[in-house]
Amino acid sequence: MCGIVAYIGKQDAYPIIIKGLQRLEYRGYDSAGVALLNGSLNVYKKAGKVSDLAAFVKDKNLSGVVGMGHTRWATHGEPNDRNAHPHFSQSKDFAIIHNGIIENYASIKAELVKQGHTFQSDTDTEVLVHLIEEIYTKVNVPLEEAVRLALGEVVGAYAIVILSKNDPNKLIAARKGSPIVVGIGKDEFFVASDATPIIEYTKNVAYLNDGEVAVISDGELTVKTIGNEIKIPFVQELEMKLEALEKGGYEHFYVERNL
Ligand code: GLU
Repeated sequence: MCGIVAYIGKQDAYPIIIKGLQRLEYRGYDSAGVALLNGSLNVYKKAGKVSDLAAFVKDKNLSGVVGMGHTRWATHGEPNDRNAHPHFSQSKDFAIIHNGIIENYASIKAELVKQGHTFQSDTDTEVLVHLIEEIYTKVNVPLEEAVRLALGEVVGAYAIVILSKNDPNKLIAARKGSPIVVGIGKDEFFVASDATPIIEYTKNVAYLNDGEVAVISDGELTVKTIGNEIKIPFVQELEMKLEALEKGGYEHFYVERNL
């Protein structure tokens, strides 16, 4: 297990993301990284602890009201800086973070190499963001459609978040087998592997179901299945004790859902 945190709204994304990654440390990981959208799409990543990442980015451009962060538990490729997430697409216009495994990455990668793609990491994850870009440019569809079509070709388990330099008001998340929760605030949204990075900002959350893609764009959340069926997100109220959470131990906090 490892962690995902993302933010789109009006606040600076970086402090929310780095704090969220610290909240997810209990899940275990070997490296960490962030991506921030601020006209450009900046990616910073490091093997080691979230605190190593925080030290590494200290003098970097951390502005941006849209961003995402990841803690990795390596399955494909060594736990090093290069294999840490986020990963860029070929043009570097898109970035992805991913928890899980893309089982058929090798055959997709071989096909993409034939199309001229080059890869910077040994991960299965990088293949998925290249595939999304290939579909985006060749089929010429909006990003969310490219994500859905790419996920239709993928075998495996995933929780993903995608950002695009060309769509600075958009954040896309999807899940199959790995959890994703969307926190809904006032003019802002949070995405995470579990509610611990979200609870201090909002209690209203929607859990994605397997095979669902969430698009947060211009302040609105829409959810579709990979098969293009529209879903109404089920928003529920969380009750979680932040004080208990801050004691630090997984066993010290609880979530009550009003079903
Ligand atoms: N399979 C991906 C990798 O090895 C993601 C691992 C994870 O879940 O952190 O980079």
